Amino acid sequence: MINFNVPPYIGREQDYIQEVIRTNQKLCGDGPFTKKCNNWMEEHFDVLKVLLTTSCTHALELAAILAKIKPGDEVIAPSFTFVSTVNAFVSKGATIVFVDIRPDTLNIDEKLIEDAITEKTKAIIPVHYAGVACEMDKIMDIAKKHNLFVIEDAAQGVMATYKGRALGTIGDFGTYSFHETKNYTMGEGGALLIRNKEYVERAEIIREKGTNRSKFLRGQVDKYSWVDVGSSYLPSELNAAYLYAQLEEAKLINDNRLKTWNLYYEGLKELKDNKFIELPVIPNYCTHNAHMFYIKCENLEDRSSLINYLKEEGINAAFHYVPLHSSEAGLKYGRFHGRDEFTTKESERLVRLPMYYGLEPEKTKYIIDTIFRFYVK
Ligand SMILES: *Cc1c(COP(=O)(O)O)cnc(C)c1O
Repeated sequence: MINFNVPPYIGREQDYIQEVIRTNQKLCGDGPFTKKCNNWMEEHFDVLKVLLTTSCTHALELAAILAKIKPGDEVIAPSFTFVSTVNAFVSKGATIVFVDIRPDTLNIDEKLIEDAITEKTKAIIPVHYAGVACEMDKIMDIAKKHNLFVIEDAAQGVMATYKGRALGTIGDFGTYSFHETKNYTMGEGGALLIRNKEYVERAEIIREKGTNRSKFLRGQVDKYSWVDVGSSYLPSELNAAYLYAQLEEAKLINDNRLKTWNLYYEGLKELKDNKFIELPVIPNYCTHNAHMFYIKCENLEDRSSLINYLKEEGINAAFHYVPLHSSEAGLKYGRFHGRDEFTTKESERLVRLPMYYGLEPEKTKYIIDTIFRFYVK
């Protein structure tokens, strides 16, 4: 069986974890490896502050607290996304206003956002699906005009850019995921990216259980105490050590994934040209990170038969996202603004193919051949 995902592993993860154990240094959060990860991302993605967190879900929660989301507020988000994108805001009492996606990138349709704004709207949550950027210039303009926060769910967007800027660094806050299904991993983990200085101190406090322990560790106060609301969003040093080994090799991992992505694209182009399937669209001002390779079938029925056929041939393919607005919790906590022209339709015909660091070209070719056999019998 060809797996759908294999978590990336470089080799140096073990050495770094052993270093944490051997030197008997900190096992809890904010030790040397956490700092190394934060600094690496601040430097490479050119952003003021990065704080490693226990997950992208938690980074989104932290952002929701920083944006002071409260009961009665509304936030605008796509329905074609993972539950965490909106749960972070629902847990603070917000109502989610879903808007439709674009059929090309499957990202939130920026042209539909302004119409969904009410006097209760507090934030826009763009999700960079598959590591391909949303139309951030337009979204930032709308947010500025209506005085809204922009919180980028860049869980899938590490190492991808929009007009030369790293995803997650364009809005007020950005969030990354280092879950084992993402391009870089620490098992479970994430990061919050902060562009504006005025939010850094409060973010550190919320992340540290509502205390000013971060200031204490830097020697800026002589004891630490409870100063605000907060939770425990710090990952252990063991996890940070694992991630650091992968960040050091981020280019290697990224290049390898892109190679697989391009192999898929070239290999399947003929099926696209003959209108059997559709392939991903990457706007020319975006660089993506090959987080995912998906194809779009004609409809749900065609997709189900393709996924079954691939399974019989030893290939694990997967679909993505039952639209949130039609799910049990989505009906309770949100509403869809405007017409659902593409969200449901596109989600029903999408198939994700195996994609991971180190996926052998022979396997990729076998997958391509198998899809050809399915369509051109
Ligand atoms: C993976 C993912 C998340 C959640 O990430 P965790 O680190 O598992 O909390 C959130 N949003 C999107 C779009 C994701 O793909």
